[in-house]
Amino acid sequence: MLRARYIKSSRHDETKIRSSPQVPTVPIGTQTNIMSRRVANLNAASQPWERLYYFGDRLRARGQTIPGSIKNIVSLDQPGLEDEHRELFQLVQSANAQTAAANENIGNAAAMIPSNFPAACHRIMDVLKFHFRANIIRSREDLIGNRALVYHECRVSGLVPEMIEALKEWEDNIGELREHLEDLTPEHDEVERDLQARLACGQAWFDPYTQQLDYEVTETIGPKVPISGFSRPVDPSQAPGLTCPICLDDLCNHQQVVQLSCAHMCGADCLSVWTCSNADQANTCPFCRAKLFVQRPRAATTWFQRYSRVHTDFKRLEAELALITQDIETVAHLMYEVAPNDIVLDTPGR
Ligand SMILES: [Zn+2]
Ligand SMILES: [Zn+2]
Repeated sequence: MLRARYIKSSRHDETKIRSSPQVPTVPIGTQTNIMSRRVANLNAASQPWERLYYFGDRLRARGQTIPGSIKNIVSLDQPGLEDEHRELFQLVQSANAQTAAANENIGNAAAMIPSNFPAACHRIMDVLKFHFRANIIRSREDLIGNRALVYHECRVSGLVPEMIEALKEWEDNIGELREHLEDLTPEHDEVERDLQARLACGQAWFDPYTQQLDYEVTETIGPKVPISGFSRPVDPSQAPGLTCPICLDDLCNHQQVVQLSCAHMCGADCLSVWTCSNADQANTCPFCRAKLFVQRPRAATTWFQRYSRVHTDFKRLEAELALITQDIETVAHLMYEVAPNDIVLDTPGR
């Protein structure tokens, strides 16, 4: 949650101890991106099948058909092989290879989706399975290159009705998401305006190193604990050649040196900066991490709590909307390939 950042400068009075909250990010990012790439692979695998249709159309226009079996073509060097058969053999080889690769991706993808993954991942899995089934049908020897038979088989096998069903459901989901987003927009605009106003008047700022909102404005923290409560002054001459673990300067260069309960010594000013910071380990010895005092209580400020809740919800909805739109477009595209007459959506994603 909180990341501490210790910035060491050459002069010990410039030692700064910082930490900053992570503005919450959308949790459904990474896995779905990986999945989307797999869908892109599947789309690429469809292309040779599309070209096979044209090949079949061309033959049929001349009253010919694709040979019932292409298994008797064993290599492109086979004597007596006609150019068209050569082309067909190449196309089928390429289609089968791409489909095999794509289907392997499906297996990998299925293994990647534990049940606690977001709905978006399960939806992408559905998209993958639709492609898988379409490719199985398109690669059947008795259907290869025959558009009409492939369309028919896709319909009677239940693939097309299921795709239509899924598209309807996802379109409904898009409607709900849009409504939620609209409901949330006024509050989202309000918290964004509030943040902009705070940034403008210096009540909030971004940490230049992390580009996140600085913790100092997003958190309240309990009162500072005086170092006299857990350290005692010692004579710097008692520490010849020892270094302050905070500023790394010789202890004898410090005005006042103190000893902690763990017997480690450091500069009094350095210790004060260290223990008064918001850093996670500010209540420990900088050398051995021995606990010095009870951690100061902290809590997110009310405005930041609200900002981060609304901001996160809004971004999550936006991301989900983009993902579902993409999935609808992918399946609609597959519909054009295997059942163009059954397309029920005028515009994918409405
Ligand atoms: Zn020091
Ligand atoms: Zn110590």
